[in-house]
Amino acid sequence: MSTSSYAEFYRRSIEDRDAFWAEQARAIEWHRPFEQVCDYSRPPFARWFVGGETNLCHNAVDRHARDRGEQNALIWVSTEVDQERIYSFSALQREVERMAAILLAQGVSQGDRVLIYMPMIPEAAFAMLACARIGAIHSVVFGGFASHSLASRIDDAEPALIVSADAGSRSGKVVPYKHLLDEAIQLARHKPGAVLMVDRGLAPFERVAGRDLDYAALREQHLDAQVPCTWLEANAPSYTLYTSGTTGKPKGVQRDTGGYAVALAASMQHIYCGRPGETYFSTSDIGWVVGHSYIIYGPLLAGMATIMYEGLPTRPDAGVWWSLVEKYRVTVMFSAPTAVRVLKKQDPAYLSKYDLSSLRALFLAGEPLDEPTAKWIAEALGRPIIDNYWQTETGWPILSIANGVETKASKFGSPGVAMYGFNVKLLDENSGAELTAPNQKGVVAIAGPLPPGCLQTVWRDDARFVNTYWSSIPGQQLYSTFDWGIRDADGYFYILGRTDDVINVAGHRLGTREIEESISSHPNVAEVAVVGVADQLKGQVAMAFAVLKDASRAATPQAALAQEGEIMKLVDEQLGAVARPARVRFVNVLPKTRSGKLLRRAIQAVCEGRDPGDLSTMDDPAALRQISELLGA
Ligand code: AMP
Repeated sequence: MSTSSYAEFYRRSIEDRDAFWAEQARAIEWHRPFEQVCDYSRPPFARWFVGGETNLCHNAVDRHARDRGEQNALIWVSTEVDQERIYSFSALQREVERMAAILLAQGVSQGDRVLIYMPMIPEAAFAMLACARIGAIHSVVFGGFASHSLASRIDDAEPALIVSADAGSRSGKVVPYKHLLDEAIQLARHKPGAVLMVDRGLAPFERVAGRDLDYAALREQHLDAQVPCTWLEANAPSYTLYTSGTTGKPKGVQRDTGGYAVALAASMQHIYCGRPGETYFSTSDIGWVVGHSYIIYGPLLAGMATIMYEGLPTRPDAGVWWSLVEKYRVTVMFSAPTAVRVLKKQDPAYLSKYDLSSLRALFLAGEPLDEPTAKWIAEALGRPIIDNYWQTETGWPILSIANGVETKASKFGSPGVAMYGFNVKLLDENSGAELTAPNQKGVVAIAGPLPPGCLQTVWRDDARFVNTYWSSIPGQQLYSTFDWGIRDADGYFYILGRTDDVINVAGHRLGTREIEESISSHPNVAEVAVVGVADQLKGQVAMAFAVLKDASRAATPQAALAQEGEIMKLVDEQLGAVARPARVRFVNVLPKTRSGKLLRRAIQAVCEGRDPGDLSTMDDPAALRQISELLGA
């Protein structure tokens, strides 16, 4: 911990940007020094560390294998299949080289995409790092997504190869993956050249001759493989990660190499305060951005061991995470408010059963952290709880507390202050004017250039990058987060929810449009509206209101339940259980404006028992009444 002033640190990051980031860039190793810190000659596209050459895998693995090879790097714990495997940095490097050799032998080369559709197993980490090693662009798709979601991502990424596994496991039940993948490839226009299958022996599967490869057999062939890191220009893309927006088509958030490495390495020092040789435990999944930044790359870049956990927080019992903290002397932990709310329902004795003295702080992110949850866990752990606010797009926190620079207290309900490099502004939604007085509600926006580590663009769609993120503020080119916020007199922000139709279920970001499109594909659905509704446990849940073509199929309560079940099954099959609405209710007509625009916010307000606001533009007031009656019933 340092005694220097965060205010000064932050000021330098904005006003003396290039000197500031040139200093931060020392946290990683460069094969060739950069010539320019930031090229912002073509706003809003920022290019960081131009001309520099580096490699993410070198910095995350090889560098530490060289300096501290026998220390733990990857600790895999599965309470689903009751296994643990530990890889030192040297062992991790060997596995990554084997995986890289397999990819190369299949003709995967620099710039090619590799789609990774995997459960939380070490091979998923090997695959990501192997891609980084050879300059292939990985695109991890969350294992909870089903065939339609996967197919649209395959078509957008056009992968040369897909890495997958026979199955995941949830709550002790096998969740087969392969048939979903086969279905997705069938649905997709683009066909990958090969599918590399990790067979865990959990679910038998059919192999497609000439396409499907066996990882274990190929690994044997490449046991002694030595694959050097490919030095990449700092702006070479390292990965794409799909995230939901307001259209049904997910956006491929594209990240660079050098800027990302610097941003993560810096955040490990200044925000997460993790030191080499210590253990980091993030409970997220590699399918989400937290998994990319703070299960795989961030901790490894910092020379820390990272725990990769497959399982639930409550199985075999609600003490399992704390038992890992004790066993591996975890110093930094990262989770989501929903997980804490789940644990809060369990016996508090689990928290005092283990020695948690190694733990310095618990970071929470992904969704708003409510005060009762924060207070409960803070008291139970006796450690600082540090909220951090960011997005798939930014790759690391926009708002938090940089205790590595200056120790500062958190405020309940606030994710903290603007992090260095992020020139955060609050803007009036209609005029775009900056709100400078404290405690005013506005849209949280960021003035360009975005700092290193943030998205470079939307994969193969620069126009979408500009139009989506940089064009929504009237008269100005500013990055919109699409979140409402306020800032108090001390510079602490409070996030008040999304300005768009994106919802957040248990920290997972879902687009209501995607769910609507899936439900609309049911033959008996004429129209549907999906909204996010406040939920005590998950923060929000999706609620669907549908107009049926043949309403008689939901005429009795039993028939309605059967129809609802059918629609939920369809969403499960197409998008995955993660997107399944909590309820599908049937109505005669949906509330719309006279010009036909769905009044989602009014529906949401009624569902949450709030005043729906001005309804003078509404076409048919009976529509909202029916929803409110249904909910009251
Ligand atoms: P994702 O891209 O899936 O990480 O989702 C990003 C969105 O989650 C943000 O735009 C916010 O709406 C929400 N979010 C993430 N972290 C926080 C936080 N600490 N507090 C409040 N909302 C958050």
